[in-house]
Amino acid sequence: MAEEKEKRKELEEENVKDELENIPGVGEKLAEQLRECGYNDLMAVAVTPSGQLADDTGIGEATIRKIIAAARSQLKMAFTDAAELLDRRKSVKRITTGSKELDKLIGGGVETQSITETFGEFGTGKTQIGLQLVVNVQLPPEKGGLDSYAAFIDTENTFRPKRVQQIAKAVGLDEKEALKRIKVARAYSSDHQILLAEKIPDLITKEEVPIKLLVIDSLMGLLRAEYIGRGTLAARQQKLNKYLHVLQRLSDRYNLAIYVTNQVMSRPDVFFGDPTKAIGGHILGHAATYRIYLRKSKGSKRIARLIDSPCLPEGEAIFAITEKGIEDA
Ligand code: ADP
Ligand code: MG
Repeated sequence: MAEEKEKRKELEEENVKDELENIPGVGEKLAEQLRECGYNDLMAVAVTPSGQLADDTGIGEATIRKIIAAARSQLKMAFTDAAELLDRRKSVKRITTGSKELDKLIGGGVETQSITETFGEFGTGKTQIGLQLVVNVQLPPEKGGLDSYAAFIDTENTFRPKRVQQIAKAVGLDEKEALKRIKVARAYSSDHQILLAEKIPDLITKEEVPIKLLVIDSLMGLLRAEYIGRGTLAARQQKLNKYLHVLQRLSDRYNLAIYVTNQVMSRPDVFFGDPTKAIGGHILGHAATYRIYLRKSKGSKRIARLIDSPCLPEGEAIFAITEKGIEDA
């Protein structure tokens, strides 16, 4: 418990150092203007191209250039040595999916400091895995959890408290208590969805909710609905790119596991290319650290295939979706 408090204090202090107002030349008004446009901290300002930052915020380019330079000198933007990197990797933790086979496929469970993506057709289990994970993250480490809370961003109204209770009961958790440890938000637009993700640090540091898992079901649904047709692809990808940066920073910064679901294009006749390719294209392909393609097998069985993992062999695992949740088949 004391350790938890200590950690939180550390995070808070880090956050204070990170505040935009600490950039020389940035007062409350400019900081507010930046925040309104989604630039919430020093790093966001330091790494955004000046043209883009000027366009997004409407602040003059000369001012923007000064702000960026100041933010950069404020930040430790040096290289990290490999030993430190190894240390950071040591703090990586894993959450069980409920299926040993599926865990094995992805190296022992869904990992913190990473984004794990499942994609597949309707009914392949993408949402069910998310619901299982928001329960399992609450379990003690010896049972494959992180003794923590979860956040769930719901874009398609798929979050089902009743189902969560069923899964919680099956793993031996108090059903009511389990629901209390999941912070759910419904997203109504892609901007709203990004905003919600950006609120996660507040939940962790200000409201002291020890969140270790963020589920987004689904990542692309709203974006896809808002940007229809080939002509809008570039704009959509740009927004997705921004969103993924937000997520990656979150997962690094707060040692979060991020689990996102993704649809496959279900009408190959009207699209080009591989019908089993996930929506989002290249950008998402590079950002997701683990991509799992799901397909149906007999009855409750599902097949998971690991795709382009940086350090694990490609392979398949079979699991089942039952009344209890995700299990070995
Ligand atoms: P996706 O998100 O990929 O569209 P889901 O994760 O919603 O798919 O999976 C839906 C499937 O999960 C259903 O087809 C059903 O087989 C299974 N499922 C959902 N709830 C239960 C339950 N209570 N008991 C058994 N199986 C269930
Ligand atoms: Mg779903």
